[in-house]
Amino acid sequence: MKWKDNEQSTNLEDRRGSGRSKAAIGGGGALLILVIGLLLGVDPKQLTQQISQSQQGAGEAGAGSGAEPSPRELEQRAFTATVLRFTETVWEEQFRKAGQQYTPPRMVLFSEAVSTGGCGDAPSAAGPFYCPADRTVYLDPTFFDELAQNLGGSKAEFSQAYVIAHEIGHHVQNLLGYSDLVDKKRRTLPPEEFNEWSVRLELQADYLAGVWAYQGQRKFRFVEAGDVEEAIASANAIGDDRLQKRSTGFTSPEKYTHGTSQQRTRWFTRGLKTGDFAAMKELFSTPYEQL
Ligand SMILES: [Zn+2]
Repeated sequence: MKWKDNEQSTNLEDRRGSGRSKAAIGGGGALLILVIGLLLGVDPKQLTQQISQSQQGAGEAGAGSGAEPSPRELEQRAFTATVLRFTETVWEEQFRKAGQQYTPPRMVLFSEAVSTGGCGDAPSAAGPFYCPADRTVYLDPTFFDELAQNLGGSKAEFSQAYVIAHEIGHHVQNLLGYSDLVDKKRRTLPPEEFNEWSVRLELQADYLAGVWAYQGQRKFRFVEAGDVEEAIASANAIGDDRLQKRSTGFTSPEKYTHGTSQQRTRWFTRGLKTGDFAAMKELFSTPYEQL
């Protein structure tokens, strides 16, 4: 996938590395020192000097505990921020053409575990997910290393982009009311009947990922030879069974059925071939047996 030298999104937050968050707390502490200092009537100039020294100290301490992002982490951040920007550009345009306004989601990179704003805490093992309550995609990039291994050790960048685009698809569904509709079904139907609606929602997110790839390719020409085949292979690799196993004990829409590998491939491919945003509604009008 060709993604370098493109614009990056500013809606990305990198929470990996505890040393770095300690340095951020150091900043808060400095502010506190300043406030106390002002109350005690100390010369502000002197204080500002002390604070900048203490902040440098915090930074160094953080670096000692492995806080400097590794080249790999920096590359992952640049990649996800670029793909996120690709999705913003495509969906802003598609929404505008449909007479609607696109509000982009946020994305948080984390390692090991994360606290969300409305979907509880999640371990890495939950896999990437979208939290509708805070309109944020949560992603531990080590998931991508596993994905690459499953695909035979290639870089699998376009497949990673497909995973991100699927999660962004959930945001598009949230903005358009599909998430609410399915959430209502979840509250009113027995689990075995609800499952059908969950599958529709997941396959629709795959379809939207395909639409994004089609429209993004028109604009950015990011697809390279072999990318599409690989993304389809990953639609198989991250089928249901696998995601469900990963997410044991974690409550999110992702824990429900995503559809079979064959269905996922079919709808992703359809979106990829047509680029037809409006046809997303077919996922909710097609008889279930024909999905
Ligand atoms: Zn999903």
